[in-house]
Amino acid sequence: MTTTPLIGLEVHVELKTKSKMFCSCSADHFGKSPNTQTCPVCLGLPGALPVPNQAAIDSCIKIGLALNCSVNHLSKFDRKQYFYPDLAKGYQISQYDQPFCENGFITLDSGKKIGIERVHQEEDTGKLQHTTIKGEKVSLVDYNRSGVPLVEIVSKPDLSSSDEAKEYLKKIHEIIKALGVSNADMEKGEMRLEPTVNVHIEDEKGSHYTPLVEVKNINSFNFAQQAIDYEIKRQIDDFISSGIEKSNTNKTTRGYDSIKKVTFLQRTKEEAKDYRYFPEPDIPPFVIDDIYVENLKNSLPELPDQVVANLVGLGVEIKFAKIIAKDGSMLKAVLELRDDREIDIPKLASLLANKKISVGKNLKADYQSLNKKGNTNEEELTKIVEAIIEANPGVVAEFKKGKTNVQGFFVGQAMKQTAGSADPQTLSKIVSKLLNQ
Ligand code: ZN
Ligand code: MN
Repeated sequence: MTTTPLIGLEVHVELKTKSKMFCSCSADHFGKSPNTQTCPVCLGLPGALPVPNQAAIDSCIKIGLALNCSVNHLSKFDRKQYFYPDLAKGYQISQYDQPFCENGFITLDSGKKIGIERVHQEEDTGKLQHTTIKGEKVSLVDYNRSGVPLVEIVSKPDLSSSDEAKEYLKKIHEIIKALGVSNADMEKGEMRLEPTVNVHIEDEKGSHYTPLVEVKNINSFNFAQQAIDYEIKRQIDDFISSGIEKSNTNKTTRGYDSIKKVTFLQRTKEEAKDYRYFPEPDIPPFVIDDIYVENLKNSLPELPDQVVANLVGLGVEIKFAKIIAKDGSMLKAVLELRDDREIDIPKLASLLANKKISVGKNLKADYQSLNKKGNTNEEELTKIVEAIIEANPGVVAEFKKGKTNVQGFFVGQAMKQTAGSADPQTLSKIVSKLLNQ
């Protein structure tokens, strides 16, 4: 029997725009006192009209572009109907068949491409608070979060292990942060993860797929990984004992209990038809032109993979490049010193990444004093010069023909390799001694 997990991910990201998606209430809702940031629109009162937030749509499309999606020239909002107390209007304004962005991909470090099905815009719901007042258990609703702009990123089920899923999620997180469109703080619910998992099983009887399971609202990479691993094992065990295969009616939604480390059944999953999607009649469709998309594309910052590639281009080891790319101040320091001839960038990067030195006004001095210890003794320098001489027979030949000023070349090279920490006089002495041997 062979088993291949099929994992897809839905990621919801709360945008950090000033105002909400369809009204002028503040979108900065975290920790604010309940129901102080609401209006008829985000409370879903009859007759209130939504006005789309341009900044949110820009951010949504930027995310799509950063994930290599194409932007649809024609797009619209749709109503997704369902009943829940935190959903003021009885429907969520989302996008159904014409999202802003579709058909992108993310490349994992292995080179494997993970398809992005769509990146669409929608609005967040309110929040329920279950509490006890005067001895009575009550559920309260806070609508401050109702209508905050959300972007949903849906991958294809191309991931085949929880490690790949985790790497994918980390890359999404880094890209969102680099774009500056969200703080994506998972503890505050600004980025929420929903893996969809099933398993392709081949045995002597043929090819089978286990029923699809969507695990809802996970708020850490590790929990997502644990939930996926748990599901893979549970589904294989379940198939072996029951033989039940995937059908159109047996998709379910499960929660993840991070204390017991298990998933648990929440409800049988709604299908698209259960949501009775239809075009949002209060918002006209969007016609998106190339110039607008081109301008957004040009406004994108350098993305994390490109930053890493640039550092590797400077000779930095990839594992250190990844650490530095994630740390704004380290990255800035490395790039500022890039053209400083007394500094060996790969060495500086390794010292920073290993926390041997830290960013600050003494960085260069600290770097040089650290290097002195290792490099200034004569034995060490002799080895370095010997290697340079061996690597440059042409220059040595010129020296032997009488061009004595090429000595400066060897001194310069050795100086570079020791990152400027060698004593020039000692170095000259060694160079001249070795060349005249
Ligand atoms: Zn409002
Ligand atoms: Mn959604």
